[in-house]
Amino acid sequence: MAAKEPLRVLISGGGIAGLTFARALICQRAHLASKLRNNHNDASRLRPLTIDIFEQAPELRPTVGGSITLQSSRGMLRTLGAWDPIQKRGVSVNRVITRSPTKLLTDLELINMPALQHMKEEGFLLCVLRSRILEEMNKLIFHNEPTEGESEADYGGPFQKEIDRLRDEGAATKVELHLGKRVLNVAQNKDGVLLTLSDHTSARGDVLIGADGIRSVTRSILQGPSNPQFSGHLSMGGGSYGNTDPEAEEFVQYLSPQGAYAIRVPAGDGSVSWGIIETTSEEHGEDWANAFGRVNPEVIREKIQKYWPNDKYLLQLLDNTPTEKLSMRGLYHRKSFQHPWFKERVGLLGDACHSMLPYMGQGANCAIIDAGVLSRTLLESTHFEVSTTSIATAFQQYQNERKSFSDQTVKMSEFMGSVMTLRNPLLVKVRDFLYPLMYKMPGLPQMFVKQIQAAKQSFYAPA
Ligand SMILES: Cc1cc2nc3c(=O)[nH]c(=O)nc-3n(C[C@H](O)[C@H](O)[C@H](O)COP(=O)(O)OP(=O)(O)OC[C@H]3O[C@@H](n4cnc5c(N)ncnc54)[C@H](O)[C@@H]3O)c2cc1C
Repeated sequence: MAAKEPLRVLISGGGIAGLTFARALICQRAHLASKLRNNHNDASRLRPLTIDIFEQAPELRPTVGGSITLQSSRGMLRTLGAWDPIQKRGVSVNRVITRSPTKLLTDLELINMPALQHMKEEGFLLCVLRSRILEEMNKLIFHNEPTEGESEADYGGPFQKEIDRLRDEGAATKVELHLGKRVLNVAQNKDGVLLTLSDHTSARGDVLIGADGIRSVTRSILQGPSNPQFSGHLSMGGGSYGNTDPEAEEFVQYLSPQGAYAIRVPAGDGSVSWGIIETTSEEHGEDWANAFGRVNPEVIREKIQKYWPNDKYLLQLLDNTPTEKLSMRGLYHRKSFQHPWFKERVGLLGDACHSMLPYMGQGANCAIIDAGVLSRTLLESTHFEVSTTSIATAFQQYQNERKSFSDQTVKMSEFMGSVMTLRNPLLVKVRDFLYPLMYKMPGLPQMFVKQIQAAKQSFYAPA
């Protein structure tokens, strides 16, 4: 039988979505190889796979914020062998302390909710620096071996043995990371896609995944130029080190009756990631990377004193944050839901298709689950034939599985943002009374548990 032509996947963006997708493709292909072997078929019937990731920055670094909380993507990360290494670098949290001037809110022991009992041992929320997620994902994609202190048997998750076997047989997935290359344009026809890159080179492939964030070039090429909307929320904060206060390992959120919100989370490596958000009618830019080091700490000090005059820990965090790690920027999101996530051979992933406000901590979690689902639909659909039709079928299936949940999460994140920044004194009291009840009802925690389970199942192609 003639050898199969490779499937050539191009990815624009080396953030959480782009790197997780690359890892998911490698694992999904190993899954298909073991299915072939189990059915006594020669794994050489497997289609070769090449992956090229184009990242505009000269190194892998987070474009936004300091830390991430992971929960609903846990099942998917486990499947990809990434949960354990990432967990080791972060801090697991079971309790959220909520402070409000009405004193109706205190501590929420998340793990005591009936739906979450089985997670007691490893913690419900994992707080971790974004850079650690990128590092661990990069290591899994390119190095594939345990480093000191990691057990060889556990390393890399359920597919690592098959991935190693394919490599020994000379059938490894070929992955290349191209740093400092910005995707400027994409053209597609029935034979493939052609990228124009910022260094005057170009790249050809069968399919392009635009994982290029909230200001996605890929999205604007597919759907025409459109800007994300300013949410009316201004965020400021940073990464604080050397904290000795008793709350350094606690997840704390602060509400205020004046339309402001603050959060502090332990992020591993002895750091505390913190931020305050205030509502404003004045539009602010969202360029996070360029916001670092340009903020006068005294401006933030005044805001902390205005909104939380009796709290000493937020001021300590500010004092322990180096000026170059302070940032201030507007929060943006996209609220138009009618656009499809793909056109023929080009599809979108992560913030490129569903950027949301951070109040539910779901943007990266959704991106990770998207990545796993798309890896499955793409490899399944192109197993026999790589064509515009088979690729578009994969995108359609992925969109069917993921879009309505993501759209709901975008809406719910906006709703939570408005609830957390209420100003009306009566509504503030109602919120503070109802808020703990919401966590006691089965709905919300069960939504996360369902996601965790669904994420894992939706990765595996049926046997
Ligand atoms: C304050 C804040 C807190 C948050 N907290 C959480 C949380 O706790 N939990 C959670 O799940 N989510 C959280 N989020 C959301 C989360 O940050 C995003 O959903 C996540 O980063 C999306 O990942 P991404 O890879 O899609 O996009 P990005 O992280 O934006 O990555 C896109 C990558 O593409 C590159 N790129 C862009 N354009 C091009 C181009 N043309 N060519 C080549 N490369 C390009 C960029 O340099 C970047 O590396 C938070 C967001 C904010 C703002």
